[in-house]
Amino acid sequence: MCSEPVNSARLARVRTEVTTDVCQIHDMDTTSATSSRRTLLMGAAAATTLGLFAAAPSASATDKQPAPRPAFVPEPVRTVDAGPRRVAVTFDDGPHPDYTPGVLRVLRRHRVRATFCVVGSEVEKHPQLVRAIHDAGHMIAGHSWSHPDLRRLNPDEVAEQVDRNLAAIAKVLPRYRVEWFRAPYGGWSAEVMGALSASGLRPLGWSVDPRDWSRPGADVIAERVRGALTTGSIVLNHDGGGERDQTIAALEVWLPEALSDGYRFVHPA
Ligand SMILES: [Zn+2]
Repeated sequence: MCSEPVNSARLARVRTEVTTDVCQIHDMDTTSATSSRRTLLMGAAAATTLGLFAAAPSASATDKQPAPRPAFVPEPVRTVDAGPRRVAVTFDDGPHPDYTPGVLRVLRRHRVRATFCVVGSEVEKHPQLVRAIHDAGHMIAGHSWSHPDLRRLNPDEVAEQVDRNLAAIAKVLPRYRVEWFRAPYGGWSAEVMGALSASGLRPLGWSVDPRDWSRPGADVIAERVRGALTTGSIVLNHDGGGERDQTIAALEVWLPEALSDGYRFVHPA
């Protein structure tokens, strides 16, 4: 899902308009560049490995017609499979000094483990927050270097967004192995999947989006999560990229409710 772009000079050029699951990015710096054949091939191979191509109907032995081209179906992991009432909560676009500590406080109070999808440029600015996230036992996932829509970048630029994101995290936590990556705006493509596979990363989606980034009110955010939460849910929240006070206020409501309803929070696996 979309979020407001993170606070950086480059992202100031990005405007987002959002309708349900679709982001329209205006005025984005989409430099056309020569595509890398090597990366394209790598992406295609990785996509095949990840099972991203739907199986084509098998032709009979007498059928001389070529098999139809398989449809490309990039699919991130959108749910957790850890048993009844097991769910996950994720926080994107941070770390942010105004909001990440507040999110961590609520999670600590309720002894809940979460996943933070961090933006590389913010990691570089706030390494102490990344350490705090890690020290509290939360999972850290990649969320690009500067939060562009990766579908609008060429394969080399996509790889750079992933690599710089990982390098920023590694600089803070040299021994931490990042396992997951969430594409900004949910912008999955063959190139993104190929770059992730090349870096040993898995694509992390979500199934519950309360659109907290649009600031509909803490009560609305809480109600949206409450109404959608079910076994396997991955909840999308934001601790950066804009004002997130409502996200935290909502978390203080729906998180303890979910716990008393028997939900338990796990990391994606
Ligand atoms: Zn984001």
